[in-house]
Amino acid sequence: MTTFDTIVIGAGVIGAAAARRLALDGSVLVLEQHELLHERGSSHGGSRIFRHAYVDELHTRLAVRADPLWGELEAETGERLLFRTGGVDLFAQEDEDAGAMLASLAAAGSPGERLSRADLAARFPIFDVPDGTHAVYHPASAVLPATRAVAALLRSAAARGAELREREPVLEVLPSPSGVEVRTSRKTYAAGRLVIAAGAWLGRLAADLRLPLVVEQQQVVYLPTKRNTDRQDADRQDAGAYLVGRMPVFIERRANQIDGIYGLPAFEYPHAVKVAHHDRTTPLKSADERDFALDQARAADTVAAATRLLPGLGDTPIASTTCLYTRTPDEAFILDRHPLHANVVLLGGGSGHAFKFGPLFGELAADLLAGAPAIREFRADRFG
Ligand SMILES: Cc1cc2nc3c(=O)[nH]c(=O)nc-3n(C[C@H](O)[C@H](O)[C@H](O)COP(=O)(O)OP(=O)(O)OC[C@H]3O[C@@H](n4cnc5c(N)ncnc54)[C@H](O)[C@@H]3O)c2cc1C
Repeated sequence: MTTFDTIVIGAGVIGAAAARRLALDGSVLVLEQHELLHERGSSHGGSRIFRHAYVDELHTRLAVRADPLWGELEAETGERLLFRTGGVDLFAQEDEDAGAMLASLAAAGSPGERLSRADLAARFPIFDVPDGTHAVYHPASAVLPATRAVAALLRSAAARGAELREREPVLEVLPSPSGVEVRTSRKTYAAGRLVIAAGAWLGRLAADLRLPLVVEQQQVVYLPTKRNTDRQDADRQDAGAYLVGRMPVFIERRANQIDGIYGLPAFEYPHAVKVAHHDRTTPLKSADERDFALDQARAADTVAAATRLLPGLGDTPIASTTCLYTRTPDEAFILDRHPLHANVVLLGGGSGHAFKFGPLFGELAADLLAGAPAIREFRADRFG
């Protein structure tokens, strides 16, 4: 039987990062059920938000840790991955979460600034926010080209000796005297250690743990930066104002949640911004049962919300796409050893915000496999 030091199941952003880091410790095999960089999981597409700013300090500190790791990957692969553009979180009113976000940023050593509605209008005239809105501005925020970032992680993993096998689904994981055996559609492999980074399929591969994961099909739309009207509104009709470097990434937060709309500047398309809702959709029975179709009613809600906040945008999407969220009940990740098998690590539950931590997942996987305690907030047994 072919034997490796470590097998990684899944070649999304988390599995790719784990493989890259663990390849420094010994031989690594990555098993991916579809083709590498496929579009049926959670990590594909042209852009993700990178930000330090969270309301809670834990995620803020982790994002600050991830930042230079992306820089190292850029230097190693020659691929530019962080396109800084700044970010604003829009709070409906003077909100204690805005203060908590500023405190978390300060504690983690990252800059942040409170903007009044008037400050926001002066700095970013493309926004038209309701009276009473408060913003937190965080300059470290950036756009991450998602598929290119996963490709860079995989290239780096392969350069460090990791073997990448695509179109080879794992059918079964069996504990063995020396570690684990992994049976795929082609053969059975043995390894001393296993990382399961299966995204929306994590619940299936770790069925014994009955993790309360909910898989949802999410969607984004791209709106043109020029409205089809003769409206006199020079600031909002300046397409340059929507480009990276001038337009911040943004999230509109509703009371104590982030179920509002978010958006990214024109990046994937030179004349269109990406907007979406971060709210819940109907759970899927399984990750394989999605239809990839745009929910037109939700898209209309997103367009209405986006053009209310950014009135210079056109209201006819030029493109759209769908993607999977794998939510935990508290939207914190699962990063832990299997309770019965200390050489098996589970990494997942991305809950729609894991991408930005990319290479840090590799460090955290290595720590767990070396015996470090799991971060309490990410333990697999926290749900009872
Ligand atoms: C619309 C959308 C917008 C988002 N925006 C942001 C954002 O702005 N910022 C941010 O930080 N995050 C964002 N996210 C979240 C982020 O993209 C995800 O949390 C992250 O990509 C999850 O990565 P993953 O590696 O866990 O999952 P995946 O990328 O899905 O990887 C899991 C892999 O495991 C493979 N696999 C599963 N089962 C098996 C098996 N049995 N055998 C072999 N292979 C298997 C799958 O095929 C898949 O390739 C967004 C997500 C979506 C959907």
